[in-house]
Amino acid sequence: MSVKREIKCPSCGKFTLWLGRNHDRCLYCAEFLQNEEFIKKLENEIVTQVKEENDIFHIHPSDGKFTRVFKRFFRKVRKITVIVQGLFIGFMTLILWILGMMAT
Ligand SMILES: [Zn+2]
Repeated sequence: MSVKREIKCPSCGKFTLWLGRNHDRCLYCAEFLQNEEFIKKLENEIVTQVKEENDIFHIHPSDGKFTRVFKRFFRKVRKITVIVQGLFIGFMTLILWILGMMAT
């Protein structure tokens, strides 16, 4: 992974070359360039992973074949339920809007 780009140094504010590595330093003040953006991205990834693992339907490596199929099926059902709910709310909003228009 090599991302060669110019970034603004978080400590001196000058633009310097960043190779996408955690230990890259500023060419002007020699401070580490591992900026907040990078740390936040990493934190988000960890949080997402933790959430996934806390999920009831998370597939564990120790799960048997049947459990895997079962969990995968319920994950799909849950996803569809969320979509259907969204569509239903949208539909109700539309109906109410039409009724409102007719009343005036
Ligand atoms: Zn600097």
